[in-house]
Amino acid sequence: MTESAPRIGVLALQGAAREHATVLRRLGADVVDVRLRADLEGLDGLVIPGGESTTIMRLARLYGVDEAIRRLGRPILGTCAGMIVLDRAHLGIVDLLVDRNAYGRQVASFEADLTLAGDEMPLRGVFIRAPRVVDVGPGVEVLAELDGDPVLLRDGRVVVASFHPELTDDPRVHELFLGLVREETHVGA
Ligand code: GLN
Repeated sequence: MTESAPRIGVLALQGAAREHATVLRRLGADVVDVRLRADLEGLDGLVIPGGESTTIMRLARLYGVDEAIRRLGRPILGTCAGMIVLDRAHLGIVDLLVDRNAYGRQVASFEADLTLAGDEMPLRGVFIRAPRVVDVGPGVEVLAELDGDPVLLRDGRVVVASFHPELTDDPRVHELFLGLVREETHVGA
């Protein structure tokens, strides 16, 4: 059986959509920009990039994309602002509460090596005005931490990162997400 390329949408209302598209294409995905509700049709997965969560939420509401994302029922990867947009206080898709810009002004942007669950090779995390997870629901799995704070988590079919995996050459976070997409596509087939 030959596998067809997964069709992955990247929410392109505002923020770092292009870098995600580049990584996903390199990993063999068929990538579409999502701006309107209709762009979500037929997707196997969705990426919500970093940027400014207030702007992303406002535009998503304006175009009715927010409701459509709630009903998507497909794997989602949210990074940085994308993580904020998915939390309990926004779209309510992941069982987390996130504090925006929690790392303060002096250390607003930094890089750090993260330990990934089940992997010996450290993962370089690029943090840019990053959100901090302040509450984690019981069904949420922590996949990486930084100084005791969870920075990469999985809640069922949704993966969220407070850093920017699209800004390094390390594709492991996107691979993890595409693995979930592949699992679901097979189950559904
Ligand atoms: N601080 C931004 C916000 O609150 C997130 C930053 C980012 O995505 N790099 O939306």
